[in-house]
Amino acid sequence: MNLLELHNVCCGYSQFRLDHISFGVGKGSFAGIVGPNGSGKTTLFRGIAGTLPLSEGQIRLNGQSLREMSLRQKARQIAIVSQFIEAGDMTVEDYVLMGRIPHHARFTFFETEEDYRIACEMMKKTGSWRFRDKLMSELSGGEQQLAGIARALAQQPQLLLLDEPTSHLDITHQVHILNLLQELNEQTGLTILMVIHDLNLAAEYCDHLFLVNEGKLHTSGTPEEVLTFRNIEDVWNTVVVTQTNPVSGKPVVFLVSGKVMKKQQEQTL
Ligand code: ADP
Repeated sequence: MNLLELHNVCCGYSQFRLDHISFGVGKGSFAGIVGPNGSGKTTLFRGIAGTLPLSEGQIRLNGQSLREMSLRQKARQIAIVSQFIEAGDMTVEDYVLMGRIPHHARFTFFETEEDYRIACEMMKKTGSWRFRDKLMSELSGGEQQLAGIARALAQQPQLLLLDEPTSHLDITHQVHILNLLQELNEQTGLTILMVIHDLNLAAEYCDHLFLVNEGKLHTSGTPEEVLTFRNIEDVWNTVVVTQTNPVSGKPVVFLVSGKVMKKQQEQTL
C-alpha cells in the first residue's frame, strides 16, 4: 500500500518544469530521489512539500489529496527538512520544540511536559542534545542539519521528507544520520523520502529509488534496478563501473578518470 502517491505532477519555474511525474512511495519505505544537478530533484521535493504549487496533477497522502488538507493536518503527517534552515536567533531547544506545534490543542501556545519529553528524546537521538542551548545561527551547517532532523522527528510524522540531508556533513556524520534514519524506518515504520545526490549512499540505504532526468522520471525501482551502468551513463553522460558491495550486497558506482579511460581506449585500438 502506498502512503504517498503522485499523479501526473507538473510544477516548476518559467524556464523549467517537471513533466507529468507519477510514482508511489510504499508505507514503511526508505526511498530516494536521485538525478544529476539541475534535473529537478529539489523542484520535485518542493512540489511534494507544498512550497511550490502544482500546475497540474495531484499528490495524495493515505489516499487524501494534499490540496484538501489544512496546513495543520499536513504538518501532523509530513515533516520536512530542507537543505537550508533559517532559524536565526532561536536556541536549538526552542527550534526543536517548534516541531510540536501541529500537535498542540487549538489556541494553546505553551508546550506540555510530553512535548518537552519528545523534543529531548529527538535531540538525544540525533546528537543535537549537546548544543541544545546554543543559538541556531551559531551552529555549523552540519549541526543545523542535525537540529533540523530533530525538529522534524519531534513532529512525529508518518512521512519524513528530506532534501540532501547529508550534504553539509563529513562521512562520520553522514553515516550517523543515515543510520539513524534507517533505524527509525525499521523500528517505527516511519516512511522516508529523501533527495540524495550521492549514488553510493542512495544505494546503500534506500530500498527504492526514483531517478529523475530533465524534469522527467527516467526509472524507478530497487537500487539494483535503477543504478545500472547503462542508466547512469545514459543520464549523467559519464562512464562508470558498477559492482556489488561485498559486505552489504548493494550496488556501488565507481568513476573512471579521463586519463585511465584514454589509456584503455589506446590499448583496445
Ligand atoms: P536539482 O535539485 O536536481 O539540482 P533543481 O530542481 O534545483 O535541480 O533545478 C531544476 C532547474 O530549475 C534548474 O535548471 C534550475 O536552474 C531551475 N530552478 C531552480 N530553482 C529555481 C528558481 N527558484 N527559479 C527559477 N528557476 C529555478
